[in-house]
Amino acid sequence: MRTTSRYRAARMIAAIGVISLVAACAGNGGAAGGGNTGEGGAGGGGAGGGDAGGYPDQNITFIVPFSAGGPTDTVTRMIAEPMAAKLGGKIVVRNVEGAGGTVGAGEVARAKPDGYTVLMHHIGMSTAPALYKDLGYKPLEDFEMVGLVTEVPMTVVARKDFAPATLQELVTYVKANAGKVTLANAGIGAASHLCGLLFQTAAGVKLQEVPYEGTGPALTDLVGGQVDFMCDQTTNTSGQISANEVKAYAVTTPERVKSLPDLPTTTEAGLPQLQVSVWHGLYVPKGTPQGDIQKLSEALKVALADPGVIDRMAKLGTAPVPAGDATPQALRTKLEEQLGTWAKVIADAGVKAS
Ligand code: ASP
Repeated sequence: MRTTSRYRAARMIAAIGVISLVAACAGNGGAAGGGNTGEGGAGGGGAGGGDAGGYPDQNITFIVPFSAGGPTDTVTRMIAEPMAAKLGGKIVVRNVEGAGGTVGAGEVARAKPDGYTVLMHHIGMSTAPALYKDLGYKPLEDFEMVGLVTEVPMTVVARKDFAPATLQELVTYVKANAGKVTLANAGIGAASHLCGLLFQTAAGVKLQEVPYEGTGPALTDLVGGQVDFMCDQTTNTSGQISANEVKAYAVTTPERVKSLPDLPTTTEAGLPQLQVSVWHGLYVPKGTPQGDIQKLSEALKVALADPGVIDRMAKLGTAPVPAGDATPQALRTKLEEQLGTWAKVIADAGVKAS
């Protein structure tokens, strides 16, 4: 492996244990822009159906806890514009990366609960409590839920010139070359980390993991050949798969992805244990006025019904959740269920972040 300036090795766990094979996770995921950097604004028109409190009367900040240009960032930017239009305000997207999404989530947990700071997070919201000793926030207690957004399949992808041609060959290869092969991820608890653990368990190997602050930069390095392979969401990898810039082995869902029809499922490719998809949700700090949450949730529903959003998501291998799931209660139910699922998987695996 060559080391690049993008590598932020710091908070990687000392030892990654074996993880249970049965961690099929539901989820949603994103789709959108890609390649953005730093802050971006989504301006809305209109009056936004101003509620009694006149919310919003200033910019709303959406915190993305991973790098710009990655899959979480992509889906956030995709829905920000139609949400802003519905709300009648402006949404600014800010990337607060680090520690598998826990730095950004912590910032939102501590933010003023005034409706102007919103977190977009993924499956990592449910894995972090079991992984981090001093997380500094409690997902169910320190946040109010706005709603689920989408659920995204993952793909197993490698640098284009990586030797194995199929998923089976990949398994054989990493077993024979475990000390040399590098596996990228977005930090402990990130979807790519969890999927990578499932892969290693299924293959019966322990690989050298390379943590990034998001899979946007990880994919850049994969295309550049600085790292060997990774799991990541179709919302990040579809473009590079279609352009033949990476080698794609399989999609981690029971069904093939329509936009990538030639890509086999992990079951078809002989690794049925590797099943994972990535759900995303919107959160606000505990204490945010209910009226504001309702307006955010309504705006989310409108954004997810937007034909442009549906089309962009479809092109990136995903879809909005059904309207009934873009609600606080649906997200709470999902989070509760997933916290339980991952607590067990992670405990069985003996994995911890330092
Ligand atoms: N999809 C990444 C992960 O969790 C995070 C990101 O960059 O959005 O692995």
